[in-house]
Amino acid sequence: MGLRVIFLGPPGAGKGTQAGRLGGHLRVPKISTGDMLRDAIAAGTALGRVAGPLMEKGGLVPDELLNGIIDERLSQPDCAKGYILDGFPRTLKQAEGFEHMKRGDATTDMYVLNVEVPRDELLRRLSGRRWCPHCQSTYHIYNNPPKDDSLCDKDRTLLIQREDDKETAVARRLAEYDDRTAPLIEYYRGRSRFHTVNGYRPPDTVFAELKGLFVKAPA
Ligand code: AMP
Repeated sequence: MGLRVIFLGPPGAGKGTQAGRLGGHLRVPKISTGDMLRDAIAAGTALGRVAGPLMEKGGLVPDELLNGIIDERLSQPDCAKGYILDGFPRTLKQAEGFEHMKRGDATTDMYVLNVEVPRDELLRRLSGRRWCPHCQSTYHIYNNPPKDDSLCDKDRTLLIQREDDKETAVARRLAEYDDRTAPLIEYYRGRSRFHTVNGYRPPDTVFAELKGLFVKAPA
């Protein structure tokens, strides 16, 4: 069984950024359920039609759907050597479903990285976030602005504010996190390689700490 890593943490904690960088570093795919669902919406699939209205309001998409798409994604050949999950599991039902998947969390040697950030900082980050609807890159109006006003650096698409980064949806997402995802911290602590990281620091500093967890001991 390859290297398995999951990220826990509220929306705006920087999980997506760190998961992407860690995936590049460890050479395993980063799997973001948020990106998969947004792709499904853009493609107009049956999944996208169910997920779209729920996501816009900041609610969660039903567990059975998530468990289905993750089980199928993890069975792809590129996950044989491991993977990094960003945004799954997000509920206890998903964590339980994950344990029964062929390449899921059946043992205790999975890494669980719990990213902590104070609430007022999360609100500041989420409200300033801008998104490229073409390649899904994210920017921040103060912390990480695009080079050219409002245009994606990679493909020059006009950046927008995601519907679920608007104020009412953000409040709902944080409430969903508190009610349904935060209990996973206690669920995984003690039964996995659990590590809490302070995400209220520059992304390079956070990444350096995370990278350090995967340094191999000399043979
Ligand atoms: P994210 O990009 O991770 O912030 O996810 C955006 C939205 O996608 C969430 O607010 C949910 O509506 C939905 N979503 C992503 N992952 C999950 C999941 N594991 N379970 C339920 N809904 C999810």
